[in-house]
This record gives sequence, C-alpha cells and structure tokens, in this order.
Amino acid sequence: MVTFPRVLGHEVAATIVDGNSRDPELAAGVSVTMSPYTSCGKCASCRRGRSNACQFNETLGVQRDGAMTEFIRMPEEKLYPAALSIKELCLVEPLTVGFHAVARGRVTGDDIVAVFGCGGVGLGAISASHFCGASTIAVDVDDAKLEIARKAGASHTINSNRNTLHQDLLDLTCGLGPDVVIEAIGLPETFRAAVEEVAFTGRVVYIGYPKEPVTYETRLFVQKELDVLGSRNALPEDFKRVIKMLEGKHFPVQEAVSTVVSIEDAPQILKQWSDKPIRFTKIMVDLG
Ligand SMILES: [Zn+2]
Repeated sequence: MVTFPRVLGHEVAATIVDGNSRDPELAAGVSVTMSPYTSCGKCASCRRGRSNACQFNETLGVQRDGAMTEFIRMPEEKLYPAALSIKELCLVEPLTVGFHAVARGRVTGDDIVAVFGCGGVGLGAISASHFCGASTIAVDVDDAKLEIARKAGASHTINSNRNTLHQDLLDLTCGLGPDVVIEAIGLPETFRAAVEEVAFTGRVVYIGYPKEPVTYETRLFVQKELDVLGSRNALPEDFKRVIKMLEGKHFPVQEAVSTVVSIEDAPQILKQWSDKPIRFTKIMVDLG
C-alpha cells in the first residue's frame, strides 16, 4: 500500500522536545510512543468506532511521511507516554497489531490459541494471548524465534519443519484442535492450515495476507461453523494494553530487538535483512 517517495517509520519511540506546557505527561523530556494511524472519521469503520480499519486510513511511512527523521510534529492524542525505555517504546506499535488480533479472536483464559509465525506481529499475538491467560502454542520454522516465543509467553512450541503440525496440534488439544488460530505469516499454505487445524466452532484470525489468491476447502467454513476474522492495525485500547504488559516486564525486549544501528548503517543492515530475514526480529534505527 506504500506510495513513493516516502520517509519510512511507523514503529516509533521519541523524546518530546517541545511539549504541552499545561500537561506534565506531555512535557519536554518525556519519552513516548505514538499511534501512526490517521483515520477519516466518516467511513463505515470510523462510524462503528473501528477507526483502525478506516477505509481511508493513512499510516506514517506508508501513505504519509513517517518518523525516520530527527524531528516530527504529532497531535497530542496520538502520543502515549509510558514509564518505558526508548527500546521498549519502539516495540509498542508492532505488538499492538498482535494484541488487536487476539481481541478480534475474543481470546479468554479458557482457550487454547495457536499462533502461526513468530515474527514481530506473531510475538505480539503470543504475548497478548498469554496476557489473557490462554494456553498458547507458537508455530514457526526457526528454533531461535520459537525460543523468543517461549519467553513472550508460549506454553508450547512447534517447529513445523521438523514436526507434523497436524499431529502436534491434536496432541496438545486432546484431539480437538486449537480454539483460536492466529495466522501471522501470510502464505497460502498457512492460510489454509488455519482453517484446517482450528477446532469445530473455533475462530480464525488473519493478520497478514498472501499476494496471490488462496484456494480453500470451503466445506470447512460451514461444517465447523467457523468465525473467520480479519485484523488490521490497532485501536487506542490495544496501545494501552501493550504498554501495561511491557511495564510489567512480561516481554523479552532485548531478544526481540535483534540489533540497534545508526541511520548511516541502516542501508547495510537492511540489505542483510533482505538477504536473510530469518536472522532478525526487529532492527532499531537510532536517530538520537
Ligand atoms: Zn474512516
């Protein structure tokens, strides 16, 4: 959805330089993260209070210039001050996406939740699911990512390259399948697997999406009477929940930020990421 030329940057931590003199929470020197979304206020989603899915949403770094810059001016209502480090604040926005998906899936402490994919978004879903008290199964093809997933709250992990996903999920759910499957990869195979593996009358939440159309055994939608849900961006309450979770030190921040680089070193590290994305979870660019 990005248009060019574009300044990147929608997962942001910053320190206020020129703040609100009447509000000590937003005074100079306070560290904040920010919501990168701008909604229209008029479309069907906005009217329903679901501005995260605004038809005309503009995200920093996507449809409007982002925060990979020394200074940026933002409306107060988009700022979230918190008792967190700059590194922790950088992680708030990517984690909100997973938190929103868990909210869409109506996850409770009674559920067994499987999360497909343990990148930044998947880790957010794992930590949100754990935060709700659900038993959480993390699925990925990379052992290092599964290890971080455990620290983020996964009670079980499945390396789907080495193990049979189907059998392992049945073993972990008394033969029923997970109550909720959250797909955070965006491949046709995993899109299909979500519908195939979820329990009867379960919920499937999709966050990413494949470039190509996906062919389904549509019988499963009806036979299992599934709730199939899309999840996009996040709402202010998701930001507040992530901040609360991070303030409780319930997330492996040091492991999730794979490296911190200067703006000068960013092109080189982005090339390394592009060549081998599996090596990185998040790369933080420090403009301070
Ligand atoms: Zn709208």
